[in-house]
Amino acid sequence: MSYLRLKQITVGKWQENCYLLTCPETKESALVDPGDEFDQIVALVGRTRVKRILLTHTDLDHIGALEQARDTFRANVYVHAKELTRPSHAEAPRKPILSAQPLSDGQSIRIGRHSLTVYETPGHTPGHVVFRFDRRAIVGDAIFPGGPGRTHSPADLETGLYHLQRVVFRWDDRITLYPGHGQPTTVGAQRDNFMRFLAKPRADDLYGDVSWA
Ligand SMILES: [Zn+2]
Repeated sequence: MSYLRLKQITVGKWQENCYLLTCPETKESALVDPGDEFDQIVALVGRTRVKRILLTHTDLDHIGALEQARDTFRANVYVHAKELTRPSHAEAPRKPILSAQPLSDGQSIRIGRHSLTVYETPGHTPGHVVFRFDRRAIVGDAIFPGGPGRTHSPADLETGLYHLQRVVFRWDDRITLYPGHGQPTTVGAQRDNFMRFLAKPRADDLYGDVSWA
C-alpha cells in the first residue's frame, strides 16, 4: 500500500503554505492553494503532472499564482461555489476562478490511484473547504495551532466552530493538520484546548483573531 506524497513550500508576503499532492505510482499531482511566487511553484511541481488545482478558499494570499498555474499546467481549478460570489470577488471577477469546478461536502477527488475527500468548513470564508486523505488533512485557514482562522463577525466565528466540531474534531487524534500558514499540528494537540474553549461562555461580540487559550 502506498500513500500520496505531500510536499509544501511557503510563498509570498503572507507566508502562505502551498502544497503538492502526488500519486507515487502515476506521478499525477494536485496543487493546493498556489498563493504566490510561481517560479517556486514550478520547482515544487517538478516532473509531476498537475491535473487539478484545488483551493481551500479564495483569499488573495491563496490565489496569487492561480492564473499562471492554471495556464501553465493546463489544470482544472476546483473551488466551492460560495467562494465565487464573495463580495470582494463579485466586484472584480477573476477569470480562472469563474471557470472552476464546484466542490461540495463529501466529494471525492482522484489523484492518480489515490483520492482525497472534501469537507465544507465555512467560517473564515463562506465556502472554505478542507481536504482529507489517509491520516492527513490540508485545512487552509479553518484551523491553526492554537485557534480558528480569523473571522469577520460573531456569526462567522460560531459557524466556524460548528464546522470544526462537525468535521475536524470527529477525526482521530493522530490525524495531522496542514494549515494555510505556519506549522502543522494534530487533532489531538488541539482537542483539549478546543473543547475547553467551546465549554466556556463567549462574549457576544467575539470574532477576528481568536485563540483557544
Ligand atoms: Zn490565508
